[in-house]
Order: sequence, then structure tokens, then C-alpha cells
Amino acid sequence: MTHTRRAVLAAGASWLALPLLPAFGPRHRPAPVRFRSDPFRLGVASGDPDHQSLVLWTRLCAEVLQPDGGLPNAPVEVAWELADDERFTAVRARGTTLAVPELGHAVHVEVAGLPADRWFHYRFRAGDAESPIGRTRTLPAPTVLPERLRFAFASCQHYETGLYTAYGHMAEQDLDLVCHLGDSIYEGKGRDGLVRKHHGGKLQTLHDYRVRHAQYRSDPLLAAMHARCPWFVTWDDHEVENNYADDHSERPNVTPEQFLQQRAAAYQAYYEAMPLRRAALPKGPHSQLYRHAAYGRLVDLFVLDTRQYRTVQPNGDGRKPLNAAARDPGNTLLGAAQREWLAAGLRRSPARWQVLAQQVMMGLVGHRPKATPAPAKADAKTDAKTGQSDAGPAHVDELRFAMDQWPGYVHERAWLLRHLAAQKTANPIVLTGDIHSHWVNDLRLDDHAPQLPVVASEFVGSSISSGGDGEPAAAELAALQRDNPCVQFLNRQRGYVACTVTPERWTADYFTVDQVTRPGGVTSLAARFHVAAGQRGVHRD
Ligand code: FE
Ligand code: CA
Repeated sequence: MTHTRRAVLAAGASWLALPLLPAFGPRHRPAPVRFRSDPFRLGVASGDPDHQSLVLWTRLCAEVLQPDGGLPNAPVEVAWELADDERFTAVRARGTTLAVPELGHAVHVEVAGLPADRWFHYRFRAGDAESPIGRTRTLPAPTVLPERLRFAFASCQHYETGLYTAYGHMAEQDLDLVCHLGDSIYEGKGRDGLVRKHHGGKLQTLHDYRVRHAQYRSDPLLAAMHARCPWFVTWDDHEVENNYADDHSERPNVTPEQFLQQRAAAYQAYYEAMPLRRAALPKGPHSQLYRHAAYGRLVDLFVLDTRQYRTVQPNGDGRKPLNAAARDPGNTLLGAAQREWLAAGLRRSPARWQVLAQQVMMGLVGHRPKATPAPAKADAKTDAKTGQSDAGPAHVDELRFAMDQWPGYVHERAWLLRHLAAQKTANPIVLTGDIHSHWVNDLRLDDHAPQLPVVASEFVGSSISSGGDGEPAAAELAALQRDNPCVQFLNRQRGYVACTVTPERWTADYFTVDQVTRPGGVTSLAARFHVAAGQRGVHRD
């Protein structure tokens, strides 16, 4: 271990000594604060519920674009209340905590001892300011088989390329929870000529990341959706930097030591911005984000982290053949510890549905190289739009695969699918974000061998706003399906997916927004798919 890396880790150790859980003696009580403007501009959130506890979150911030949030460099006392009703006549729990400047005046309250499967309302007070009211819930007891879960999953909310119209639509649905699969912020510098503009330059320091999270969360549609129900969040790459892998930056001149310093800042700002349990509090450049939640015996949710522990993308990243480097058994997205944890959790799972909430596409989707379209037979027609012939499927060796996704880690993917099949995992479902497009994939040990049994189904949700308006991409889907029998659906508009889960059936509603570059976008149901419990493979409704 180098000197610099040791210094980073030591810095992490000193953060542990911060007054995170202040013991409230009257002597420590800070003076009441008067705010010049609303300190609850980032709203409220809740997250990571189990059957008897949950996290309530806020971050005091009176000036969104200032590194200190316009707050004094001192602890601020914050009172919280959780009640059965919206008017707070039946208060179930209340308390006070400290918002400390070392954590950006973020507040994470873990409320325990709550009844299972119940909705609550909560709010915060600081000085004479009162927060908006949030709704949250506990999950059903582990022994119960609930009749229904309805939740949405979302990802990729680039602030500059689109409005959060999809969250406005999501907020009108009757949802028990939301899973966010990453790219909750983007790290790039502010650019002119787009829908909105990032404040500041490319993110590097804790202050940079803090302000960026604050700018995103000051969006009223995003804040309102966080207040609406509990979220399970995980990150992808852009919470730190595009396509990073463990301590490896995309930028060739950045050393692992330098990058871990940046990662520590990014991870801390992420923790501060999200309704996470104390278990996820970063220790320097490390944070335990992968975790499990049980929705009774209906769903076992495994929230994964495929960035922090992964090996570097093979073949220099990008779209490459599934060659020996991509198949190298040493490649990992999960890392050994997370892989063992996941294997054990799946083996033990008593639930009807086993859900992997993760980042990058698991379907082995191959693309024909753009420069050299497959030679068409003399009698074959060539699609004018895609330049591809209908002369039959390309051989897998001719196709190119995304090395940042599971195809770059195909040995570990095969291990996972083999494990799911061998352990007779009841009903495995994979949820994915990252690629700013809706997909539905049936997953097999080899996705180019349709004669093999389907092992799991993958629902890939499009971005909330990243990439601008997009298009339905029907011609592209037809062309891709010729080479990729696993692909059942593709749409490149913005949107999200809402799932209704019962003991008998998993239903996925694919919502798309007709425009996000201007206000007034209309959200509609583009497609609906289901998987029947006890069977394998998706069906379009
Ligand atoms: Fe993204
Ligand atoms: Ca991503």
C-alpha cells in the first residue's frame, strides 16, 4: 500500500470519530438558529425500510449552490416527528438530532420499533423552519406472504439534458417504494445550450459533489417523489466519474491514489444526499452499499454495487468482441465478498421472487460493427436504416459487446446464471439502469443459444432525463432481434418502469415520456410484460 493510499484510509478513520450520533446533554445543545431563507429546500426523503424500521432523511440547505449550503459552520439541532396521520394527531415517534457541517448538515434518523406494513407521515423542524411532509412505510413482516407490491424503478437523471417529467407521472401512481439504480447525478461541467445547466466545473472535491447533489435535489419533481414513498438507492458510475472501475479512473493520468481521494469525496456526498442507513456511511473511499431487503415472503431484494469492487473493463472498454479477455475468469463486477454474500442470500431465499436491483445490462446483446456490415447474400434485402441485411443471424464472433456491462465479465455472469439454475432459485428477476433505454431480455447461460432454458428475466428501465427526448426505435429492435434472440423489447425514449408483484405474477409497465426537453411532456404506457411465477420467460400483454 502506498503512502498516499494509507493517508486516504487514515482520513477515513478520522471521519469515524465525527459526532454522528451526538449524545444530547443540555450542555451540548446548540443555540437556536434563525434562517434567512428556507433550510428545507432539498425536501425530505425516506429509505431502506424493513418490517419495523426505516430511515428519515433531510439535508439543511438554505443556499443550494453554495458549498456550505448557506449554513453556519456549526451543528444545528433538528427535531423530527413520525405520525400515523397527515395531521400529526397520532405521533408515533419523535426526537432531536444534530445536523453537523462535517456531513453537510445532512440528517439521517433511523426510526425503529414500528409496526409492520404501515404507512406513516414525517416532518422535520429546525429553528423556526418546518420541512415539507413526507410519506413512508414499513415493509410487511418476514413471515407474511403479501398479496401485492407495486414499485417503480428509475435511473439516469441528467439535469442538463431533460426535465424530470417522468417523476411527476410516477408521483401520481400508487407505489409502495422506488428503486433507484444509479446516475442520480452526473459529474460533467456546466454546458451551455442545453435544457438546464450544471453549476460549476467537473466534479472533484467534496464541495463540488455536495453542490451538484443539492442542485439536482432542488428540482421540485424529484424532491416530491422522494417525499412520496421510501426509496432503495444504489449508485452507478456518474455519482463519481464515467465508467470508473474500483480505483481506476478513465483518465489515464490519474493515479489510483488520486482517484481514491476523489471517490471518497463522491461517496461521502452521496451518503449525505441519500436516505441511507448508517451502515452505508463511507469510511474513506469505501462504503458498504450492497444490501438486502425482504418484502415479506413475496420479494427478496438484493441491491447490488457493480462499481466499487469491479476489475477494469477488458479490451480497453467500449464495444468489443467476446474474446478471451472478456471471458477472463479473473474479471469481476461484484468482487469476491459481494459475490459470496449474494450466493448465500439467494440460496437461503424463502421468497416467491428474487430480485437483483443493479446497474448494467446482463443480456448478452451483440451489435454488428458499424464499419463492416455483414455481407448480404445476393438475394437478401438490406435495411436502408440500419444497413443490415436479413440474411440471417450473425455469428456471435462477428458481434461487438459493451465491455462496461456484464458481457465484459461474462465468466461471472455465467457463474451467477448457473447458480440461479442449480439452486432452483424460485423466480429470479434482474432490474437494470445505465443505458438510457428500455429493454426486456430473457437470460440464458448463453444468450445466443435460444435452445437453452431461460434462467431469469431482465427488465432494463430507461433514463428519467439522460439523453434528451429519444425515439421509439422499432426498426433498431427488429434488426437487433435477428442477432439477439434474448431481446424482447427496446425503446429509446425517456421514462421508467412500474412493477406490480403478486405471488402469481410479475407485471412490468414500461412508461415513456414524449418529450423532456420542454415542459408539458406526456407520459404513457408503451408496453406491458409479465412473468408467471413458477415459469421462465417474459410475455408481452
Ligand atoms: Fe446514465
Ligand atoms: Ca451509467
